[in-house]
Amino acid sequence: MTSPQVLYETCASVATITMNRPDVANAQSSELIDELDAAFERADEDDGVRVVILAGAGRHFSSGHDLKALVGQAEPDYWRTLRETPEGKFRHEKVMYYDRCTKIRNFRKPTIAAVQGSCIAAGLMLACMCDLIVAADNAVFSNPVLKMTGAGVELLVEPWELGIRKAKEFLLTGETIDAQEAWRLGLVNKVVPAGQLMERARELAGKVALVPPITAQIVKDSINHTADLMGQSSSWRYHFMAHQFTHNTATALAALQERKSRSTLKEVFADRDRGDTIVPPH
Ligand code: ZN
Repeated sequence: MTSPQVLYETCASVATITMNRPDVANAQSSELIDELDAAFERADEDDGVRVVILAGAGRHFSSGHDLKALVGQAEPDYWRTLRETPEGKFRHEKVMYYDRCTKIRNFRKPTIAAVQGSCIAAGLMLACMCDLIVAADNAVFSNPVLKMTGAGVELLVEPWELGIRKAKEFLLTGETIDAQEAWRLGLVNKVVPAGQLMERARELAGKVALVPPITAQIVKDSINHTADLMGQSSSWRYHFMAHQFTHNTATALAALQERKSRSTLKEVFADRDRGDTIVPPH
């Protein structure tokens, strides 16, 4: 694919990094994740950039990982063969999901996610790596992967973002949270009219950009450190290993084979929505 999957632009002291696969709701392909990383590197190196906005082109912020790779419909990439083994899958998810996401969480400059439409599973994980989240009033958050055998996604953001009890409900039911509910729970900072999303995110970025960069960096880092003292990073390390174990259970491997036998994502989602129904013995 030749067209960039991530766009980069700067205006005054704000860099905007935009996931650019609107035709597939910004599903995160390996290429997109690599380009995202490169865009953050670029923003890091540019001393003129004080704040980064992370956005998604089109109607949706991100539908999460590119599931087409899981049903063998995506372009082969470097990881295709590797992730067929538990060792390779571990490495793939550590490098491409865990490390890349925590790198954004620890990015030295303040970051703002501008979220509209669907923000699903790894899309939610990615948004939560940003320091602030501005949601359009049409934003909808969900992580419906448990019925597909996934133990959440690679970083368990939910307890930190929603509180323990809501996190359990959100994950175990796969139900969605709308923008107002997300604001009430503290998952997002602001809810704005969908047509004003980028304008309002830039307005917020402009306010943050008034803080001297070193001060912003230190305060951000100190707040992240507070979260670490509360156990965030070690709970994430634990969850990542538990998540890997779950990928390799007989249950998950059987479901993966079944997914590969499906020819469209629509069928995969129909399987998911049906759930793990118990077949009575006969
Ligand atoms: Zn995984």
